[in-house]
Amino acid sequence: MPAATTPHRPSRLRARLAAALAAAALAAPIAAAAQGAAAARAGANLDVLHYTARVEPDIAGKTLRGQVSIRLALRAEGAQQLEFDAGELEIEKVSERGRALVFEKVEQRLRVRLPQPGKSGERHEIDVVYRGAPRYGLEFHPERSEVYTIFSTSQWLVCIDAPSERASLDLTLTVPSGLKAVGNGRLVSKSALGGRRDSYRWRQDQPMPSYVYGFAAGRYNEAGGTGENGELRFLSAELEGPQLRKLFGDSADMLRFFGRRAGIRYRGTYSQVLVAKTVGQELDGFALLSEAYGREVLEKPEAQGLIAHELAHQWWGNMVTNRDWGQFWLNEGFANFMAAAYLEHRFGEAAYRERVDSWKRRLDKLRESGKDHALVYANWNKPTADDRAVVYQKGAYVLHLLREELGERAFWRGVRTYTRAYYGHSVTSADLRQVMERASGRDLSAFFARWVDGAEPAPAMPSRLDPAK
Ligand SMILES: [Zn+2]
Repeated sequence: MPAATTPHRPSRLRARLAAALAAAALAAPIAAAAQGAAAARAGANLDVLHYTARVEPDIAGKTLRGQVSIRLALRAEGAQQLEFDAGELEIEKVSERGRALVFEKVEQRLRVRLPQPGKSGERHEIDVVYRGAPRYGLEFHPERSEVYTIFSTSQWLVCIDAPSERASLDLTLTVPSGLKAVGNGRLVSKSALGGRRDSYRWRQDQPMPSYVYGFAAGRYNEAGGTGENGELRFLSAELEGPQLRKLFGDSADMLRFFGRRAGIRYRGTYSQVLVAKTVGQELDGFALLSEAYGREVLEKPEAQGLIAHELAHQWWGNMVTNRDWGQFWLNEGFANFMAAAYLEHRFGEAAYRERVDSWKRRLDKLRESGKDHALVYANWNKPTADDRAVVYQKGAYVLHLLREELGERAFWRGVRTYTRAYYGHSVTSADLRQVMERASGRDLSAFFARWVDGAEPAPAMPSRLDPAK
């Protein structure tokens, strides 16, 4: 559906990428890759097509064992050295069709050497066997018999972390019998293994960025509902069915609302899991929220903004994805803004205004402290709390300003066009601007220069020498 609306898009992307990669390949011969590795992201010379993975966490021991087959196509002529993100995982073996490959682990990357240089477009399937005791990326809570992923996929799966790298996934998770588990895509099978273990196998055919891969398993109570085009699942170790149905009572309405705003309906199962501890996290087809937050929303339904935020990511973030983390506001500003739009629909305009006012107050604070920044970052390696406020709060505020600037019809038409055009693709702020200009027939260069690419200068420091003082 989205590709048909913009047939030019994928081929243009691919051509641009291929040109960039060809240039990179010429500039950095393989022998020199060791020095150049820090500059280039892992996997820049390849395109992952599909991961087939098996992961078995040991909840009590807080360790895991895994293996993954990475099907890929080379994207550079003469590529011989392949790099993957591998966190702190310990690599045991790398092979292709049973033949061992030379590899080394350099910091958080796995570097694999093909027997000879490959041709651009050449297919490979690299098998990696690994183990680990992740300090983050995977949370173990033995007291709840629970394990779940949290943000850093390469701490439990050898993969390419870059958000612009999308691939399909076939994941088998083995956990102790009696646990319920949630994963990406559709459940293909659940089978009992020896040693009181169960294997869940899911398949996601839609290529997704790896940062939304994940799973959760625990001794959950479960309740359910019906979404627009699929089942809703609500899980928690502490809350009971009726509480869960109350807590997530608006999920179906949220899916409908965002689907209408996006111009694309959500399809498939959507699950919401309350886990021991998290700030809230979107994954492909589900969200992880904390038990504490679940209790808060039960007391105070208007606190469900975070539920809406994570749900909105199914479109803005998971499907329309920032091309790199420097464009993160396109994920987070959008999710925040869309959550407020939902609260407006659900509780009235005052609920929306309250959000807008809080974003504005945070932006004022950033400006007063000289910490305002353009929404786009050249480098998002070590963001501060202020940088996060720029992306999350100022980002949402700028979308609100754009809504006021363009008016309801043009703004929402633009949001629909943008979402449909880039569904399943990476985006930049320039892409958003182009679509919004077309939808409104307006030149938005001044607006984007001021609000997206620019920042208010730090206020001048009063000086004793200043004659005006
Ligand atoms: Zn978010």
